[in-house]
Amino acid sequence: MITEKEQKVLDLIDENQDEIIEYLSKIISFKTVTPESGKGAGENKDNYRALAAIFSATLADMDFEVDSWEIDASQMGNFENSGVQHDRDMSGMPVVVGQMKSGGTGKSLILNGHYDVVPAGLAENWTYDPFKGTLKDGKLYGRGSCDMKGGVAAMIKAVKFIRQAGIKLNGDITVQVAPDEEATCMGTFSCCEKGYKADAAIIPEPTNMSVLIAMRGNSGGKITINGRAGHAEMTQPHWKEGGAVNAITKSIKILQAIEDLSEEWRTRPDKQHKYLDPDAIQTTVIHGGEWSITYPEKVELSFNANYIPATKNLEQEITDRIMKVAQTDDWLSENPPEIEFGGMYGAEISEDEPIAQLGIEVLKELGYDTGFSGMGSLTDAIHLINYAKVPTISIGPSDKPAHMADEFITVQELIDQTKAIALAIMRWTA
Ligand SMILES: [Zn+2]
Repeated sequence: MITEKEQKVLDLIDENQDEIIEYLSKIISFKTVTPESGKGAGENKDNYRALAAIFSATLADMDFEVDSWEIDASQMGNFENSGVQHDRDMSGMPVVVGQMKSGGTGKSLILNGHYDVVPAGLAENWTYDPFKGTLKDGKLYGRGSCDMKGGVAAMIKAVKFIRQAGIKLNGDITVQVAPDEEATCMGTFSCCEKGYKADAAIIPEPTNMSVLIAMRGNSGGKITINGRAGHAEMTQPHWKEGGAVNAITKSIKILQAIEDLSEEWRTRPDKQHKYLDPDAIQTTVIHGGEWSITYPEKVELSFNANYIPATKNLEQEITDRIMKVAQTDDWLSENPPEIEFGGMYGAEISEDEPIAQLGIEVLKELGYDTGFSGMGSLTDAIHLINYAKVPTISIGPSDKPAHMADEFITVQELIDQTKAIALAIMRWTA
């Protein structure tokens, strides 16, 4: 049941739709594209810093105590499977955190959103300027409108209209605006390392107005299969007598092993999850051979795997399978493939967590016939859940337009997302 006090906030949000749209348009206009590795914010450094300064100012205006910093990745810790890249240049991409202490005894809440966006892609596929918010027929277009500058605008404005309605919160609110979610999630990892904690967190990522509680982990890596060079037009003796070995031919068994493993996972009982697809692994890049009339010396296979949070031995299982197959080949058993891994854990919280239940409750009261959901890829929630041990949900708009040309958010969902967060803040901290 929506109380009279809550209704006052919802009414303010309705009456001030333009302000929310305008704020979102403004933050879309800063080109905060997630950089490729090793470049820092590069040519977008000024955009990043200017937008971070706007977040800091907005939060300071609402009496948040603001902290903002740029990350030195080389100083970050080694938390297993966190995916921290110590050699990544994070310069020019500030993290902004605002804290509002209530002095009360209510539960505390983190609102977290990322302000980096994926590149716009091919300009000719956009009807509108990707870095300018354009309002047309009830939709706001622009890169990040859906994923997730819209969510950032919603969470900041939710706090604003609660304050404007004269409601004093009884629990502490922390707002975190983080960079690099689309690449490494190190912005939020840095917040967690700094010790920011709360009784729960909400990340307004796009979720089709459902409550996201589970994400698959990701593991990528490289398998190197070595052969032995030799003239391709000469008949070669057996490799034991010094003959050449074709690394491309040898890689066939390994490619098949990966395919078989993925197929097996698809139906294996321990790989099933209520809200997530089963574990899967794909070979995604292949490099092999050096010269068209030379036996190829080396093949490198890149792979990408996704796995449910309950999977704890993914790397071991992949290694074991590849080594087992290598044993069936006399060359490969003496010259086993080399495997490198890198990746990030998945995460999930129980449906019974109070914040998960609250998410469902507020969406239902706003008229959404909703439920829990999972996501095949991951978000910043992985660090809040695994590292900071903060139960975290996401609530947000339709995810279809995310990363697309002509990305958009409907005004309806932007406003409802703001309302859902406002209701969740008021009830959680009560
Ligand atoms: Zn996102």
